[in-house]
This record gives sequence, structure tokens and C-alpha cells, in this order.
Amino acid sequence: MKKILLYIWQLPQHIVALIAIKITKAYKTEVRNGTWYAEYWCYDCESSLGGSYGQYLLVPCKATQILKDHEYGHCPQSMWWGPFYLPIVGLPSVVLNWMVSKGKLTNAERNAKWPENQADRFGKVVR
Ligand SMILES: [Zn+2]
Repeated sequence: MKKILLYIWQLPQHIVALIAIKITKAYKTEVRNGTWYAEYWCYDCESSLGGSYGQYLLVPCKATQILKDHEYGHCPQSMWWGPFYLPIVGLPSVVLNWMVSKGKLTNAERNAKWPENQADRFGKVVR
């Protein structure tokens, strides 16, 4: 019952994930059932960007362990923020990635800012 309620609480990001999985033809490669439950879905792409959408973690098939751990670290943020996760956590994350792509921030500067630094801490990322 708790699992169902948690799934519904995170429904907006789950809907986004299921659409992204369909569009990118991603496939499930791994289940991580540690502190939090999450499924890794990989897609064929040269990108180094991943996405964390509730229990669905979308990563390129060649994702590094650092990226996988980082996306896993977003799981508790999604669980806490529920339907507010996408505007409160997802939007700043997208903006920070955009700033890196435009040369306005370095990767290190982005990783030092919230919510990325918190995701790194929860995912026990060692950079
Ligand atoms: Zn992130």
C-alpha cells in the first residue's frame, strides 16, 4: 500500500518518465533496491545527461557510475517533494545544465549548487 501511495505521490515525474522511455526507446537494465527503490532505464545516446523521475532513472547506456549514483541521489528529493519535484528540483537542474552548455558555469560550479550537490550527497557520489 505504501509503495502504491508513493508511486501516486510522484505521479507527475512518473508520467514524464514513461513518455521519455517511450520516445527514447529506453530499456530497463538494472534495479537498485538500496535505501530507495529505483530502476535504471538506458537509452542509446552519446549524451552524458541523465534524468531522475521518481523511481525511473533514465541514463545513457554508456553512463558512468558517477552519473548513475548522482541520478539515484535525486530519488529522495522526488520522494519528499512529490508533485512539486519537477518545478522545485527538476527546473533548477535543467537551468544549471543549460548554463553549463552555454559556458556560463563549469561542471564543478553546477555540481556545487543545490539541488545537484544534495543529489551527489544522497547518491554518495565521489567525484
Ligand atoms: Zn542532477
